[in-house]
Amino acid sequence: MTQRHSALPPLAALPSPSLTWHEAAPHSAAFDDVYFSREDGRAETEHVFVNANDLPARFADWPPGRAFVIGETGFGTGLNMLCAWACFEDHAPAHARLHLLSTEKLPLDHASLTRALSAWPSLAAYAQVLCALWPAPVSGIHRLHLSERVTLDLHFGDTAERLGQLDGQVDAWFLDGFAPSKNPDMWQPALFDAMAARSHPGATFATFTCAGIVKRGLKAAGFTWQKVPGFGRKREMLAGHIATPPDDPRRQATPWFTPPAATYPRQVAVIGAGIAGASVAAALARRGIQVRLIDREGPGAGGSGNRQGALYVKLAAETNHQSRFYLAGLMYSQRWLSQISTPTPLWQPSGVVQLALTDKETRRQQRFIANHPLPDAIVSAQTAGLSEQAGVPISADQALVYPQAGWVRPKALCERLVDYPNIEVCQGEVTQLRRDGQRWQLDLTGGDVISADQVVIANAQLANRFAQTAALPLQQVRGQVSEVALPEGVDAPGRVVCAGGYVSPPVDGVLTFGASFVPNNDTTQVTADDHQRNIDELRHALPEWVADLERAGVALNAQTLAGRAAVRAASPDKSPYAGPVPVADAWREAYQGLSKDASKVPDTLGEHYPGLWISTAHGSRGLSSAPLCAEVIASRMCGDPLPLEAPLVDHLHPGRRIISAIIRGERA
Ligand code: SAM
Repeated sequence: MTQRHSALPPLAALPSPSLTWHEAAPHSAAFDDVYFSREDGRAETEHVFVNANDLPARFADWPPGRAFVIGETGFGTGLNMLCAWACFEDHAPAHARLHLLSTEKLPLDHASLTRALSAWPSLAAYAQVLCALWPAPVSGIHRLHLSERVTLDLHFGDTAERLGQLDGQVDAWFLDGFAPSKNPDMWQPALFDAMAARSHPGATFATFTCAGIVKRGLKAAGFTWQKVPGFGRKREMLAGHIATPPDDPRRQATPWFTPPAATYPRQVAVIGAGIAGASVAAALARRGIQVRLIDREGPGAGGSGNRQGALYVKLAAETNHQSRFYLAGLMYSQRWLSQISTPTPLWQPSGVVQLALTDKETRRQQRFIANHPLPDAIVSAQTAGLSEQAGVPISADQALVYPQAGWVRPKALCERLVDYPNIEVCQGEVTQLRRDGQRWQLDLTGGDVISADQVVIANAQLANRFAQTAALPLQQVRGQVSEVALPEGVDAPGRVVCAGGYVSPPVDGVLTFGASFVPNNDTTQVTADDHQRNIDELRHALPEWVADLERAGVALNAQTLAGRAAVRAASPDKSPYAGPVPVADAWREAYQGLSKDASKVPDTLGEHYPGLWISTAHGSRGLSSAPLCAEVIASRMCGDPLPLEAPLVDHLHPGRRIISAIIRGERA
């Protein structure tokens, strides 16, 4: 199915621009142009972008519901976006939300960003937030929660290509980027066409330039424009709008994934209070939605209930959609956890060391690095100093080191997420979902009924026990962690170390290692067999250290270790399901013809149960996948731009298996 999408460009670490400085004002060597006017850059931004898009009045009148979306070409120093944010704070009513998205192919490094923004003391508070969240220069989308109601998606990469992958629509465009004479490659028809296809009806734009190529390109794409007075010595600039944007042509290739129209519900029920459900609840509550979170036990009771969980990913050697998603999820979770981790720390970015214990794994890691040219701040292959990195003797010759990954307190995280005014936690087991008029009725054991505008199913391996989700293939996987108290003074890992299993730095004097992986097993009693597997894995990965532990009197005895077992859910392709629930029978009927000829795509749109969503199949990587999946669902539900490129959103779609099974001539 992936061949139906326009291919994503290669994953890349983006270079930072070469700059010269006039005090705090940067000048681009490559484009021989300035980022902002040295005289009064902020006033220029207010004139050209903020006021020419009529933002003060539009913010003031913005109704409850979806966010106001601003799209920008060329993030640069972020001055334009910070001015838009400041304007929003000054004018928008309390219920309003702002969603900013901006492209950038040469992201400033952190020091340059900080220096450039120091030019604007009146924006210092906004700049501080941006600088604290500034991501590594990796191509793709980086979602930053600037405040409870303001979100910024940085689309790192070339503007036209990035907007081509955008799944979302914009209300006001800031058409920036260096002048067309200095940067002709950007001001091409592909850019204007992508803007048009990703505009809400009536979307406006403003730009500092009046160049003919811009006027012609905008007109050809469907925008109307007027010349309006420019800033300072510039006589004229352009502003305008698009009344009726064209349809998004991408969907013709995959009509089944066409999302249901966003309706911005008032009240949503979420089933399951593990990391998947709790992060969905938090993402919805932040958007002003009332959430009822229903769990048979309580927050973090199932697979998310361990004392510690490792935040790490195992990425395929070849870059594929799954790897891209998990990498995006890892980077998002790192930033998100750091933000919500005060005052009580919910996680430690201790770093993760992934050992290569065999020649095959060594070669696989080398292929991975060759295929994933990522900054060392994200991941690197290392051969020297591994014992110093890990804090315990390492005999492996090579490892992948993720310096910003680490470990989480999953149960405490779930409890924190649901501690929010808009979230009501209800204890109960949902047995059935019924549609009653415009609402869902959730039948609970014992006879209680909860009703909601929309429902998100996030109860892991139980998620396909409802009639509406029965067609979703889910595998149950039992996982047990082992725990042992460490005496004072014994060396212990300072980073998470993993190979077949993982071991985390001790917390409260207890070492956690594991987890066993037993497919098709839904039992949760702690067993000596699983402890033994965990001990064997640990001994295999870190033989010298385990010998040291035993010499220090630590008894790694399968009969006496403490531990905890839980069941996780996995999909057949090992990617999560995150999105609207398809009506499986309707899909089979509508798309049956694909089994004969997969190139004959009908124009029937995929039918979905109205207001029914699912986030499950997070396996043992839920800490990396669930928070970003929560944003995917909440964004789709509320009409916000998506935090992943369109092909990756489709990759997570719960209906994907139905289509691939039809094409392969199987019954899903
Ligand atoms: N809006 C910025 C601000 O508020 O600071 C100033 C933008 S600066 C004049 C132009 C920016 O566009 C630079 O950061 C440059 O790297 C970026 N840019 C130029 N061509 C691009 C392209 N084709 N794709 C993505 N970014 C591009």
